Amino acid sequence: MSLSEFQLIDKFFAHCSVERSDVLLGIGDDAALFKAPAGATLVAAVDTLVEGVHFPNNTSAADIGYRALAVNLSDFAAMGAEPAWATLALTLPRADDEWLREFSAGFCGAARQYNVQLVGGDTTKGSLTVTVQLTGYVPDGYALRRDAAKPGDLIYVTGTLGDAGLALALLEDQCKVTRQQQEYVLSRFYRPQPRVQHGIALRNLANAAIDISDGLLADLNHVLTASQVGATLIVDHVPLSTALQSVLQTVGGWRLPLTAGDDYELCFTVPQEKKAEVEHLLGRYPGSMTCVGTVENEMGLRCQFSSGQQFETSESGYDHFR
Ligand SMILES: [Mg+2]
Repeated sequence: MSLSEFQLIDKFFAHCSVERSDVLLGIGDDAALFKAPAGATLVAAVDTLVEGVHFPNNTSAADIGYRALAVNLSDFAAMGAEPAWATLALTLPRADDEWLREFSAGFCGAARQYNVQLVGGDTTKGSLTVTVQLTGYVPDGYALRRDAAKPGDLIYVTGTLGDAGLALALLEDQCKVTRQQQEYVLSRFYRPQPRVQHGIALRNLANAAIDISDGLLADLNHVLTASQVGATLIVDHVPLSTALQSVLQTVGGWRLPLTAGDDYELCFTVPQEKKAEVEHLLGRYPGSMTCVGTVENEMGLRCQFSSGQQFETSESGYDHFR
């Protein structure tokens, strides 16, 4: 590295995010000091992004920076938690000023948007790898978890599903959409919008929640297994963007919206009696929410169309999710 670790961190990251009053000591000492409010439980999540594995090789530095924080923010959304403090470990093939400036702009843009302060970092030389650890808090007893779905709960998802999967299909030239749709879909992959406000609003209302990082079937199944319940999913109620609707058959029908990951939307379950309250409250935030099924006593995930016709997951190779 041509710049020392200290210089790198100081030059591009020292004052790039917000200055939170609960940070007693930020970047510059051996460790950071910060204070959670009284009556709060600490929440932590960590994610590593590796070039070529978690993002395509030609991804812009700004998008990598944004996304590295956004995937952690999405985990916080799923817990109903308030994000607050982040640390960043950056492995780079070389210290490239221009790349670091752009990365910092992407990362710190997301940090400012969600009121997160970068409180420490580490840099090493090697293949491009970004690890972000995010810490925050939730009022004692109010964290949303995967293991609390109850039979009778309605299953909701935010936003539209399959867009990030469609972005990858577009990058591989598997299909074509209009230029405007292409821009929208690529932004869904490179700039996911973590549903942090939704998660916080759901603290008193949802029984269980998860963020959709591995695909709806896989992530919903995590909730069902942890909660020891089953569900029926109405496949054609799963919300799609107009871009995905226009090429759905070309890209394998319901495969993308049901199994593609990286959308970072929320999937949550709500008791029937709280339906009106949830729809009213979450209607205030950007991004729609859609009821896609019902939690049931009988274990397993059953998929059908609203016509009543069964959706055979086994034919499409989804059988291992059942
Ligand atoms: Mg998650």
